[in-house]
Parts: sequence; structure tokens; C-alpha cells
Amino acid sequence: MTLPADSHVHSEWSWDTGGPHSPAAGRMRATCEQAVRIGLPAVYFTEHLDVPGTWRAEPQDLMPHQQSMLDEAGRVEFAPLDAVGYLTAVDRLRHEFPELRIHTGVELGQPHLRQERVAQIIDLGVVDRVLGSLHTLDLGGGPAEPGTLCREHDPADVMTAYLDQVPAVVRGSDAFQVFAHIDYAVRLWPVATAGPFDPRAFEDGFRAALRSIADGGRALEMNTRRLWPWIPQWWAQSGGQAVTFGSDAHTPDGLAAHFPEATAMLEHFGFRPGRTPEEFWTRTRAL
Ligand SMILES: [Zn+2]
Ligand SMILES: [Zn+2]
Repeated sequence: MTLPADSHVHSEWSWDTGGPHSPAAGRMRATCEQAVRIGLPAVYFTEHLDVPGTWRAEPQDLMPHQQSMLDEAGRVEFAPLDAVGYLTAVDRLRHEFPELRIHTGVELGQPHLRQERVAQIIDLGVVDRVLGSLHTLDLGGGPAEPGTLCREHDPADVMTAYLDQVPAVVRGSDAFQVFAHIDYAVRLWPVATAGPFDPRAFEDGFRAALRSIADGGRALEMNTRRLWPWIPQWWAQSGGQAVTFGSDAHTPDGLAAHFPEATAMLEHFGFRPGRTPEEFWTRTRAL
């Protein structure tokens, strides 16, 4: 079976890798080489599009190469996406890899906020795909990632607040076509102190969030870092019609991770491929 496009991939052009002048340089080319090697027909480089200095973190929230991004006030600072450099790099690789379909994109963090600042960084109309992501939220102490917030609040309250924010993200922006990793806060769930994550404790919140994404006419990303069967099940039952597959790879070896299992899982819930690897998979029967 042909693999669907990997619709969520990062390279050295994403700030969290360290940027194009860091040891991550060359990752975009290596990722294209990997795609050809594994027979992946198409890839979307969806680089992080975040406004620098707009959330706080602590050293333990950041990877070793990101420690210097923390300013004295505890805010995460970095150079904004170099749109020209990024688009030029994609164009060059399209010529180098004619057998691979390379698409442009961004992963827009908190798309409902600071839209004027974002527009100064890149014209969203020029990229092929915009993912909408909720990475940070403000529970009163200033915006922070769920991992930070889970040390300051009851993790259950953080999870509930995260899901409650999703409808506002959808309502507040029509710039993105796909809502990415709705399980983002689950990734950062503190298993050591809170025990294994049980989605049933947050089912109402997930279903309401999924309904808002479906009602907003967006697709849902199946983020393949973790394969949770309850996500496509609840998505289909909430009226969700379309999905994409995204590995969220930051290194070439993560490209299309778990795609064989993810596509089998989505078929089980009634989703079928489009005519091309780039098309959304859509649901053909009621669940
Ligand atoms: Zn993300
Ligand atoms: Zn990502």
C-alpha cells in the first residue's frame, strides 16, 4: 500500500531544532533522502511558526540545545521563522529530488492569537498547508506549556483547560486547515506523579473539542507519535470527516513513524484514502 503524505515534519528551519545555523543544519535534505529510501511519496515540511518570547518555561522543560533560549525573565526566545530561507531551501530540494513531492507548510502555534505579528513573519497564503496547534495556555500565571503547568496545578485541571481552549482556537482563526496533535497535553502528562493517563476521565472534554474542530470544517491530524484508538473513534463519532497523518518528526529517522499501524487503525474507523497521497483521508460510512 502506498503511504499517505507525512503531513507534519520539521527540519532545521524549526526554531526548536536549533535553527539553520545549528547542528541540525542539513536535516531537511536528509529527510528527503529518507523519504526516497522508505518509499514515502510526499512530505510537508511544517516548520514551527511561533512568536518568540510569548511563553515562559523552566530549564527542565527544554532540551539541552534549547537551554540558551531561556531569557532572564524565563521566557523562551529564538529567531522567528526565516520564511525566505525556508522557502528557498524547499525550492532547491524540489529540484534535487524530482521523485519526491515536497510541500511547504507551517505549524502555527496558538493560531487565534497575535495574528498581525504572525503575518509579519510569513504570508500564510504562500504555503501549501497550515497546521493549527495549541502548545501553550494561560492559567493565570502567563502562557506556558502543559508540562510546566502540570507542576503548578492539578494535571487534571490542566488537561481540562487545554481541551476547553480548543473551540476558541478554531473560532479564532480560519488560517489553518488541520488541527494538529489534540493529544499534546497527554504527551506531557506527568505519569510519575499522576499515574497512567486515562482518557475516559476527560471524554466529555475531548468530544467537545473534537466537535468544535469538525463543526469548524477542519481536518484532524492523526499524530503518529502515539497511536490512541480513542482519538479516531471519538473523532468519527463527533462528526469528523477528514484526517491527515503526521509523524511530527524532528529528525529524519522519525519520518512516517507508525504509518502502517496508523493507516490500518483509521481504516478500521471507516476512513479511506483520497486519490493522491496528499488528499485527506475521509470517512465513507457512519460509525
Ligand atoms: Zn506541535
Ligand atoms: Zn510539530
